[in-house]
Amino acid sequence: MDGAYNRLTFGVLMSQPAPDEGSSLTEVGNAVSRNGAFGRAEDIPVMGTAQGRERPAGDRQPVPARRPLDCIVLVKQVPDVSNIPEDAWDREKGTLRRAMLDSILNPLDLQALTFARRITEATPGSRTIYLSMGPPQARETLIDCLSRVPGEAILLTDRAFAGADTVATAYSLACAIRRIEREILGGSRDYVIVTGMQSVDGDTAQVPPQIAEELGIEHIAYAKGVDVEPDLAVRRIGPQGTEIVRPLRYPVLVTVTACMDPLYRSFELAREARSGSVHEWSAQSVGADPHRTGLQGSRTQVYRIFSPSEERAKACEFVHEPAELIERIKTRYQAAGSRARAVEGEAYSLGGKTPTYTGEFWVLAEREGDGIRSVSLELLGKARELAAGLGALVGAVLPCDDAADLPKELIAFGADKVYAIEHPLLGEFLPMPYKAAISRLVRERKPQVMLFGATPLGRELAPRVAYASSSGLTADCTKLEIGDYTKGSVSLVGVLKQTRPALGGNIMATILTKDSPTQMATVRPGVFRALPRDLSRTGEVIRLTADLTEEELRVRSLAVEAVESNVSIRDADIVVAGGHGLRSKADFERYLKPLADGLGRLLGADAKVGASRIAVEDGFTTHDRQVGQTGQTVQPRLYLAIGISGAVQHISGMQGSEIIVAINKDPKARIFNYADLGMVGDIETILPGLTRVLDGAMA
Ligand SMILES: Cc1cc2nc3c(=O)[nH]c(=O)nc-3n(C[C@H](O)[C@H](O)[C@H](O)COP(=O)(O)OP(=O)(O)OC[C@H]3O[C@@H](n4cnc5c(N)ncnc54)[C@H](O)[C@@H]3O)c2cc1C
Repeated sequence: MDGAYNRLTFGVLMSQPAPDEGSSLTEVGNAVSRNGAFGRAEDIPVMGTAQGRERPAGDRQPVPARRPLDCIVLVKQVPDVSNIPEDAWDREKGTLRRAMLDSILNPLDLQALTFARRITEATPGSRTIYLSMGPPQARETLIDCLSRVPGEAILLTDRAFAGADTVATAYSLACAIRRIEREILGGSRDYVIVTGMQSVDGDTAQVPPQIAEELGIEHIAYAKGVDVEPDLAVRRIGPQGTEIVRPLRYPVLVTVTACMDPLYRSFELAREARSGSVHEWSAQSVGADPHRTGLQGSRTQVYRIFSPSEERAKACEFVHEPAELIERIKTRYQAAGSRARAVEGEAYSLGGKTPTYTGEFWVLAEREGDGIRSVSLELLGKARELAAGLGALVGAVLPCDDAADLPKELIAFGADKVYAIEHPLLGEFLPMPYKAAISRLVRERKPQVMLFGATPLGRELAPRVAYASSSGLTADCTKLEIGDYTKGSVSLVGVLKQTRPALGGNIMATILTKDSPTQMATVRPGVFRALPRDLSRTGEVIRLTADLTEEELRVRSLAVEAVESNVSIRDADIVVAGGHGLRSKADFERYLKPLADGLGRLLGADAKVGASRIAVEDGFTTHDRQVGQTGQTVQPRLYLAIGISGAVQHISGMQGSEIIVAINKDPKARIFNYADLGMVGDIETILPGLTRVLDGAMA
């Protein structure tokens, strides 16, 4: 059910918020408070109705083919994390000197360029406008774009933007988009905002949904292709395969995850670009509220940066025989299974101090089939541990069409309270109704912490809920603890310390929430362990009805084009991943599946086949099996990397795995730095050997 705009085909669309929805969100908040909208079986007011704004009927129609459809392409200059010079590391402090890294165009933004070019080429008369925010040097990035696909370019540059987190960045970019709409597009709203899925430095994927939230528009994530006949249809990666999603009105924001044509630079275009096509805009010129930009407008702050090696020091044990490797895997796997991971670090104690935040610890309960997704249960376990130090209660928020017995299940896994928000529109995940219902509940009840799984649903929903409830959010956390913080006159007691990888996994950052009613974080699946299911636990179930209507839907799915597969490598206990070293699709299939099946049988676990990006690009397997920055993040108990070199973008998607085994013919391959067990040699001899041992063990 995650990430789905699909299967619901509502056609009625009304009440699009005016462009200044950022401020109108506050109005909705006030309205909720005034009406006391939440409580047992009370109604949650509809956002559109609360605002009472209607757009002209013409805006509700799809843009017919061949009518201009302008594209605003968001691009970012980032440090080149694939090529970090040795002297850029400050080994003593465990940090990276960012200024020593080359600056490049965020690689995923090239996919946004491709996507936008496909739209503008197919709709003659359409314009391309590049928008970037950064220091004056970021101009080079815009020139790079202009020299590939011509257009106009805006650089949002001002000291007032310095130190912006995702919320302040999204707000500033949204202000610039409003000015582009007014002044460059002459007030036309027939445009698409296109961005790469995420930037390789921050890696949060938070800014695009938060821009959409600020502008009050729909967001289509995971796009991989686009058609413009008979009107715009976006192909996106959905939970069950490729989906076609058709926006029913504009503007719409699309984040692109896989869409690449060769985009060569032209000398002629570069010369033109240098001679004045990049315009510089200041914070004031886009009408940005100084309280909402830069550091001042940020709701998170970095508290500590350190090297990942402090988190996970690995010494790879090399073995030489297939039988020895299987034996070592078995021993380690069983030992890992009996070790509780949930309690890390020391339990926090307030010791008589007054905590900075009060209120409950909440977890978004994500449904999967008839049950609850495992990451939500893991988060309930972690929330219990964190809340205990502050004497707080744990609540699960369950948006659904019918809660049935799920509250009982959530209580059994650690919830003291379950907020079941029921409505037919909450049966499937749709960002707008989910966001509206949850953010209203957050504003009303003010939990001190809210945790979401870093799943496709959580990554799309959490940024919007955080933005709409004026809260800070840290994405993809791998560690959470409660602690105190003192610096100068600032003294925080019992706050949530949120640790996550940054710069493509090259550094770790611990982040604190500031100036927010609620501290919010997303956490990758598998980081924490669920508590044992205890059906004797008791708790309170608070049933709420959300007064949502189909008007809250802004995008509909026309069809599921093809169901490619239903692979979920995220929840597998074992992932056997193959890379470029497998050489062909035939070898990939011949070797990996039998090995995964054999390990699954030996260890009594669910084993799935994964892949590196090159293996996917070479057609060995499908994208839903890709592990890494632009694929899935997996944290299985056992991860095998076979013929995978260990590029940072791959590592960031699997380094949280409990036991990592690498097989590679190159003894210096980077993957061995992250592995617990390693075997150096040729796949052609090692893999058949492993399968034989496994077959023998089961015979
Ligand atoms: C923005 C961006 C996002 C990216 N996202 C991802 C991502 O999500 N996931 C991802 O995986 N990559 C991603 N990449 C690509 C990444 O940088 C690497 O290019 C990729 O991970 C390499 O895949 P690989 O290890 O399979 O191939 P290679 O780097 O080519 O490594 C192949 C390995 O196989 C070994 N080998 C070869 N033959 C044999 C043999 N016969 N026996 C044993 N070993 C053998 C080699 O020694 C080598 O180590 C991204 C890159 C960018 C720029």
